[in-house]
Amino acid sequence: MSYVDEVIELVVKKNPSEPEFHQAVKEVLESLRVVIEANEEQYRKDALLERLVEPERQIKFRVPWVDDKGQVQVNTGYRVQFNSAIGPYKGGLRLHPSVNIGIIKFLGFEQIFKNSLTGLPIGGGKGGSDFDPKGKSDREVMAFCQSFITELYRYIGADTDVPAGDIGTGAREIGYMYGQYKRLTGLYEGVLTGKGLSYGGSLARTQATGYGLLYLTQELLKINGKDINGMTAVVSGSGNVATYAMEKAQQLGVKVLTCSDSNGWVYDPEGIDVAAIKEIKEVKRARLTEYKNYRPNAEYHEGRGVWSIKADLALPCATQNELLLDDAKQLVANGVTAVCEGANMPTTLEATEYLQKNGVIFAPGKAANAGGVATSALEMSQNSERLSWTFEEVDAKLKGIMVNITHNMVNAAERYGMAGNYVAGANIAGFEKVVNAMNAQGIV
Ligand code: GLU
Repeated sequence: MSYVDEVIELVVKKNPSEPEFHQAVKEVLESLRVVIEANEEQYRKDALLERLVEPERQIKFRVPWVDDKGQVQVNTGYRVQFNSAIGPYKGGLRLHPSVNIGIIKFLGFEQIFKNSLTGLPIGGGKGGSDFDPKGKSDREVMAFCQSFITELYRYIGADTDVPAGDIGTGAREIGYMYGQYKRLTGLYEGVLTGKGLSYGGSLARTQATGYGLLYLTQELLKINGKDINGMTAVVSGSGNVATYAMEKAQQLGVKVLTCSDSNGWVYDPEGIDVAAIKEIKEVKRARLTEYKNYRPNAEYHEGRGVWSIKADLALPCATQNELLLDDAKQLVANGVTAVCEGANMPTTLEATEYLQKNGVIFAPGKAANAGGVATSALEMSQNSERLSWTFEEVDAKLKGIMVNITHNMVNAAERYGMAGNYVAGANIAGFEKVVNAMNAQGIV
């Protein structure tokens, strides 16, 4: 049996009931097959892949807190410190009822390659909890965040592990966590990113993932001889990534037709009103059902359905496994040009294969959504030098990083005879740097 197949089998056996982690490992290792086969003897001897798929450290802890009725609630907290070969662990904290160790491991594994692709010195990690901030009062969210950090603080630090936001963790949560970390340690340091501007945050960090997605999409289309200006797009999600993806898309001349939340979706043939989305989601913390109050001509539908609308671009920006094989078939039937992932692993393996086989330009999340973590690394740089850069400076750096990622991904795929396979290109480019560093640092 080939080394790749052996390790995939091992991962499934050693980590039962973690289907998302299996999926992430399969996607990466399958596409690295050529690279691994070229070095199979050495990699086997060094157990390189076995080390790569085993997190350096996994922390799981109790998070007790008191709700507004005086009732004690107990959640589970996680931090998976996956790989520190090229820098301190870096990756977000997901707060969502679906969180379990398998989800955090899939996200942490993806993060290793994503962070490497940025070209910046950040290792891979991820964490979170099954706590659901939705519907909780500010005081309840604060109580949870303080309890979470009271346990996690001993494992993180500006030079060891730097968490950030993800689904359910935004500026409010990061603020409460930062305050508690400072109180416990006495350190005013860049231990978290996505901070508010008044206490060490970076300009453009809020916009970075969505803007970065569009910078990469624009460049990838250009490489394929197409102009983004004048295209239409279907977007899923309405959180931080989707909102700023829609904003930048519109700035680049794209008409955005849809967005969604976990209950339903909006179709606005005149183009989504991003200011309305910001008010509904960021200010009111409400649901998309409200969108009709702002735009009476728009349609609201319960359930899922954004991929049924005909458009040139599809930008999944909600969550994992939200674009299935049937959706891919529908998109291809509607003549989609490109699918670029704003979320982490939103497209299933079968859907990805179908899109690629049918000539759709497909950019995987670990390249396409890397702008968020890249700008987090820029926030770390600013914190270290105790300076703040202007919006224009950060945005220009972000754009440069996304353009670079695009070319590295395209070139890596070509180098291994897989031109146009950007999944392989992104994985290869990300893998090469991590493996070089792991080899140089010995068996650790
Ligand atoms: N959660 C984001 C991601 O998936 C950002 C992580 C970070 O900024 O550290 O990459």
